[in-house]
Amino acid sequence: MSGRQEELRASLVRVQERIAAACVEAGRGPAAVHLVVVTKTFPASDIRLLAALGVTDVAENKQQELAAKHAELAVEVPVRWHFVGHLQSNKVGAVAEIADVVHSVDRLRLVAGLDRRATERRRDLEVLLQVSLDPPGAEHRSGAKSEELAALAAAVTASEHLVLRGLMAVAPLEDDPAEAFARLAEIRAGFVATYPEATWLSAGMSGDLEHAIRAGATHVRVGSAVLGSRPPVQ
Ligand SMILES: *Cc1c(COP(=O)(O)O)cnc(C)c1O
Repeated sequence: MSGRQEELRASLVRVQERIAAACVEAGRGPAAVHLVVVTKTFPASDIRLLAALGVTDVAENKQQELAAKHAELAVEVPVRWHFVGHLQSNKVGAVAEIADVVHSVDRLRLVAGLDRRATERRRDLEVLLQVSLDPPGAEHRSGAKSEELAALAAAVTASEHLVLRGLMAVAPLEDDPAEAFARLAEIRAGFVATYPEATWLSAGMSGDLEHAIRAGATHVRVGSAVLGSRPPVQ
């Protein structure tokens, strides 16, 4: 094993142990939570090593980076590609051609754009609706408001090639993650009452995955705890 592969193997084991311990603590089965490794800023060669170590799902947050790594690896490396970043309207088509799962659908325009390209390419695309956990009145960042979810979900279920899987959220930086994810659990309970098939909950990152698993996360998106720290964003 190369030095990098040994490093990734060791950090993957640590993250999987954290997930398993959090599942036990929350009284959930160990298979209840899927690990999606966020590989942004790291080279395609790391994805190759991760796949060899058993990682099945990787995520990117920029369309160009997703496209470049996918072009380099897709034929030979059997991973599922997730898109977790803010989605600009002019990048929607390119993402719909490549991604298997899009976590960041937060406005109606994106639903139409993703479905148009997915339909052209005759491929199904799994989608999650990103809901904002910013407290009411706070400055609004990525994510739909909870009251906008019904219209988004209706548009996804009416589409031809989009499959509604559930909800995604990021805990606000300045907030207590336990409180933020408790709000998310409440929003999600209301949502699955209407869309019982949309059971996925994508929440939890390197720093807060235990809180997210306690609140019902089914997919944790973990970057730095597996791959190491990233260079600061320019
Ligand atoms: C980068 C990123 C992550 C992973 O963050 P880490 O703290 O490195 O685990 C998760 N979700 C989204 C949306 C991201 O952009």
